[in-house]
Amino acid sequence: EKAELLKFKNEASKTKDGIKKLIEANIGSPIDVNSVIENGGEGIGLFRSEFLYMDNDHFPTEDEQYESYKKVVDAMEGKIVVIRTLDIGGDKKLSYFEFPHEINPFLGYRAIRFTLDRKDIFKDQLRALLRASAHGELGIMFPMIATVDEFLRAKAVVEECKLELKSEGIKYDENVLVGMMVEIPAAAVNADKFSKHADFFSIGTNDLIQYSMAADRMSENVSYLYQPLNPAILKLISLTIEGAHKNNKWVGMCGEMAGDIQALPILVGLGLDAFSMSASSILQARCLMSKITMKEAKELSIKALECQDTDEVIKLVDNFIEGI
Ligand code: PEP
Ligand code: MG
Repeated sequence: EKAELLKFKNEASKTKDGIKKLIEANIGSPIDVNSVIENGGEGIGLFRSEFLYMDNDHFPTEDEQYESYKKVVDAMEGKIVVIRTLDIGGDKKLSYFEFPHEINPFLGYRAIRFTLDRKDIFKDQLRALLRASAHGELGIMFPMIATVDEFLRAKAVVEECKLELKSEGIKYDENVLVGMMVEIPAAAVNADKFSKHADFFSIGTNDLIQYSMAADRMSENVSYLYQPLNPAILKLISLTIEGAHKNNKWVGMCGEMAGDIQALPILVGLGLDAFSMSASSILQARCLMSKITMKEAKELSIKALECQDTDEVIKLVDNFIEGI
């Protein structure tokens, strides 16, 4: 079986009827890139930049960040690398910075809410990202976007950094992609509005499920509510994809669900363009994708959206997978 999977290492990801998709990997640090290349990843769909901040005793400088981002972009040799700006707060803390005390940190001052407030810290990162964009294909991605205004404000800071770099004679890619995570239900519902401004979306199902089901993703007591295949979650994913495609933007997924074999046929049917997962899941996903036609996946996804509950969706998809 391993040998069968290895055949897929250097193949493009596509359905049985030849519809192209991207299967990419999530990474947390530049050293993870080796295993992405070994497993035939077609890009990096999510580089969580937090590690640079968490494994440190100070906010990393622009130059320190630039070195890390450039390493990844260089190693991927022109394949797309999506780097997420600082997603801190909630459960992710820094030893050298004290966040304000809040009763619900997951609903509080974190991620883009923090960086929009601390433009000094945000700009160091954005300048480093822009400089790295000169070396390959880079996407800048904002976490935890809830409103169009937040996205526009974040993008304005990117524009400000571009002007600075230009006046300093420092290179960057003028057409660098600027996109956002869809991990707050309001963003999924309003995807058609966001897609006028964002170059791409990436669905963060880990948080999207947490916020949609009102169930803390860290709490074992309510883990039964963590249901990727709940029809409500599928509906939000469907709205996101439709809203993006309306304005000709692509949609990836970088939450755990992207690497879930049971979810894959439905996600293909809903029209997801890119799947970003742990490197070790790539070949299996590419193999399964090659056995599914777009027509049957679409039919499956329509049925899944009509299901009463998660159990019904699971039965439907298990049956489907058995039949191929
Ligand atoms: C997500 O929320 O699905 C995601 C990919 O981001 P993180 O797991 O880092 O919150
Ligand atoms: Mg998240």
